[in-house]
Amino acid sequence: MLTRHATYAATVAATLWDVPQHYNIGVDVCDKWADGTGRLAIIHEKSPNHIQYYTFDQLKAYSNRFAHVLQQAGVVRGDRVGILLAQGIETAIAHIACYKLGLIAIPLFSLFGSDALAYRLSNSGARALVTNAEGVAKLASIETPLPQLQTVVDIDATQDTPAAPITLAFWPALQQQPDTFEPVPTLADDPAVIIYTSGTTGKPKGALHAHRVLLGHLPGVEMSHNFFPDHAKVMWTPADWAWIGGLFDVLMPSLHHGIPVLACRFAKFTAEAAFDIMSRHQVTHTFLPPTALKMLRRLENPRDRWPLALHSIASGGESLGLELIDWGRRNLDITINEFYGQTECNMLVSSCADLFEPKIGSMGKAVPGHDIQIVNDQGDILPDGAEGNIGVRRPDPVMFLSYWNNPEATQEKFAGDFLVTGDVGVRDEEGFFRFVGRNDDVITSAGYRIGPGPIEDCILGHPQVSMVAVVGLPDDERTEAVTAFVVLNEGVEPSDALKKDIQEHVKTRVAAHEYPRRVYFVDALPMTTTGKIIRKELRNYTETAG
Ligand code: ATP
Ligand code: MG
Repeated sequence: MLTRHATYAATVAATLWDVPQHYNIGVDVCDKWADGTGRLAIIHEKSPNHIQYYTFDQLKAYSNRFAHVLQQAGVVRGDRVGILLAQGIETAIAHIACYKLGLIAIPLFSLFGSDALAYRLSNSGARALVTNAEGVAKLASIETPLPQLQTVVDIDATQDTPAAPITLAFWPALQQQPDTFEPVPTLADDPAVIIYTSGTTGKPKGALHAHRVLLGHLPGVEMSHNFFPDHAKVMWTPADWAWIGGLFDVLMPSLHHGIPVLACRFAKFTAEAAFDIMSRHQVTHTFLPPTALKMLRRLENPRDRWPLALHSIASGGESLGLELIDWGRRNLDITINEFYGQTECNMLVSSCADLFEPKIGSMGKAVPGHDIQIVNDQGDILPDGAEGNIGVRRPDPVMFLSYWNNPEATQEKFAGDFLVTGDVGVRDEEGFFRFVGRNDDVITSAGYRIGPGPIEDCILGHPQVSMVAVVGLPDDERTEAVTAFVVLNEGVEPSDALKKDIQEHVKTRVAAHEYPRRVYFVDALPMTTTGKIIRKELRNYTETAG
């Protein structure tokens, strides 16, 4: 855990890992705080008129009961259990019960279609699935045989259905079980969870993590929130708990520190809805991915309309950029802390406004506890200022164990002593890491290597632009031509004059050789379910569509 020090160097020097041999996420985030004092754990808002408050004592009792339910259904240690649920109390109960039983939880995004769901259930060989009525219906539409799936637990059901796979009614089943359960004494290195990557570059890969993954996340969470849990009263994120960002950057670390988490599933995420919920629950800490921030920034002066208690905003998953940082400072008096990581190994680099001014164009410095270096493809360390792979020295408590059922991909992920992220970056002499781009997204144009991030950030600063993605398209003369796909603000008409204006905007602000030679106006950008721009698809799109 990070302790507050005045400087980054002192914080690094004071940080030591403390990973016990035996460690269980479920016990740590729940039983530890269940001391009969009624400490608040989860605020579940089903609608503004339907809010339920759950204590750690309740969470312990419910997760113990659910552990018995799974055990009686024949699920045994090491089995995989899918959790296809949005944010909510049952999601937390299911996760904690799985960890206490030594099972492997598989968080699944509630908006997945049947193909996405079938792929993950089949790839992981899930034995059980915890879901709701909607999920049960989705499951019924899957044609792929799922012979391993024996039990489904439906949080909406009022009675069991015996047809295969057997469907159990969650809440009635809980009622029949005792409050007490002896958690399995897992090792910190025992598998706990498989999280599928976003699938930005190809088919999603199942990253298998050990129980220690939560301890590995703590310094990053603490740094990106200016020494969390200082000043923390309520934590919230619109990111689904099915992703590493929602689950291990928000839900689990917050419960680890005994800070209540607000759970809510939005019918539709809007800036108004986000400010409304943050205001009503006086949220102090939030993780807002850049896509969410881009929606919020359509509003100026939100504090005129909503009384906010916000203390800290962390953001990551994509480049943040000056535009969003400026908006946060202007409108909320908060310097948004950018962080960097990936499903396989997360919260590695971060900014921390309490320790240093963010450097524009950089993601921050190495999170204490992690040794982050720029390395070549063989895993040799490159000097400051050189461009190369962002690498993480192993072992590291936050590092994944392997890709599920994919030893080749696991092996390819490492070079020498380092996990190679697949992202290109540069570290400067002060220790700031600049994100150049994903290996595949770096544009090679007329001998220059250009990352899309700074150009996108600049175009986003154009008053008529709402969203933008920059890619390199094949070009006879320059290998690749910098190309911008632009979504304009509502009501703005595309025109050649506007195209020129956007090009000039980049030429004068970024660099003449980086301006987009081609600009296409589009209605929307292809995005992953996590809200990341799929640049790969834009490259394919134009190759065929001209
Ligand atoms: P897949 O691996 O399936 O293609 P993905 O890499 O998008 O999908 P995630 O693990 O969710 O899946 O995302 C991690 C990636 O997100 C990082 O490797 C990096 O490319 C990008 N990323 C994360 N944080 C930042 C950041 N602060 N700035 C720029 N990019 C970031
Ligand atoms: Mg990836």
